Amino acid sequence: MRPCTQPLRSPAMRCEVVAVGTELLLGQIVDTNSAVIGERLAASGIDSYFQVKVGDNLDRATTAVRDALARSDAVIVTGGLGPTHDDLTRNVLAAVMGVELERDEALVDVIRGMFAARGRTMPDNNLLQADVPRGAIVIPQTRGTAPGLICPVESVDADGHPITKVVYAMPGVPHEMAEMLERAVLPDLLARRGGTEAIVSRTLRTWGDSESGLAERLVEPIAELEASHRATIALLASGVEGIKVRVTAKGADTTAARRSVDEVADELRTRLGSIVFAEDDASMESVVLDLLRARQRTLAVAESMTGGMITARLTEVAGASEVVRGGVVSYASEVKWSLLDVPEGPVVSDVAARAMADGVRRLLGADVGLSITGVAGPAPQDDRAPGTVFVGYAIGEVVEAKQLSLFGDRARIRAYATISALDVLRRTLEAEQMA
Ligand code: ATP
Ligand code: MG
Repeated sequence: MRPCTQPLRSPAMRCEVVAVGTELLLGQIVDTNSAVIGERLAASGIDSYFQVKVGDNLDRATTAVRDALARSDAVIVTGGLGPTHDDLTRNVLAAVMGVELERDEALVDVIRGMFAARGRTMPDNNLLQADVPRGAIVIPQTRGTAPGLICPVESVDADGHPITKVVYAMPGVPHEMAEMLERAVLPDLLARRGGTEAIVSRTLRTWGDSESGLAERLVEPIAELEASHRATIALLASGVEGIKVRVTAKGADTTAARRSVDEVADELRTRLGSIVFAEDDASMESVVLDLLRARQRTLAVAESMTGGMITARLTEVAGASEVVRGGVVSYASEVKWSLLDVPEGPVVSDVAARAMADGVRRLLGADVGLSITGVAGPAPQDDRAPGTVFVGYAIGEVVEAKQLSLFGDRARIRAYATISALDVLRRTLEAEQMA
């Protein structure tokens, strides 16, 4: 569990986002940067009321940043920091600050050094990236070559008192942007906001109930929390990754905030019971692997309708090799019969799922077998409707299967079948642990 912790103070600070790039307006790329920034601002307790996209045009981009700054305390700009003629964010910032661009010779050396380290000479164009509006602070770039900028802008508040607002500029390339956001921009924003109150959150990840079902289970605690202000709860539907229940609390310091969050999150975990499969960054597959590893058990998987997706998810986790022996994609009925000793007959069945789980663990010499067989669609099979799924498991003496009914198109059914099968194993292992 890794709760995110940031200071918080009221009155709230406001920060807007301006994404620069004509490609964004034309729909050639999706503005994921604004989504990432918005999520991080919210998690840090910073209000963000506007997100604007603007093309690579000096006047329009300058207007967009000025308007945003007039409404807020801070503005984060992403994109347009590159070395080409259409990258004009530096000029926009100089205009907003009312200053000239100056070449920063130290930055020239850094950029030249980055090219040298890769055995390349720096094209002259890249010198543009060393142009900095006078008075701006450079955020060193660790990944690409475009440095970021912190630009203080003198302004006046509603009562006419002078105040300093701030505009941040970050590269458009998503991983460079995300890294710089965490390393430099958020810490600077939070330091400007000041205060020592802390905000902490914990996310319970659930599988096996609908959003409305979950909301109903949470009616009482939500009403109680609205009255007591101990914490807030947010439901985040995340498709095939389940529904997240995020608990957030404020406190005088991190310890106090964490105490409130833990109290409420622990209560909720008890109330929600076995539908909670993990917390925060842990995934269904990592939980299954942890449960098996804790008992020093190995796993073998036999997959039909998911064609290897379960094994793929499991092996995405580093260290899966300690647990996962391997998998068999027994797609054709004859392969189930001959390789896994499934009795000849209908293969979308309880009997076949159990035999597959038992067969694959024997074949691959694993302690535990997991299997899946079903109808991905769109056509029915053996008179079974699409979405009919059997998940089998073999653990010690126990060889069982569970029937599931999923809906949706082929892709959705396969994706849901994958996580549902892992969930069946997760619940079985947890129930065994409790017994
Ligand atoms: P570069 O040095 O690559 O030119 P830059 O700071 O000038 O970086 P842009 O030229 O605006 O940034 O964008 C570079 C690439 O980053 C784009 O081609 C696009 O793939 C991606 N990108 C830019 N803006 C966004 C955004 N808002 N959301 C997601 N991706 C983006
Ligand atoms: Mg560019």
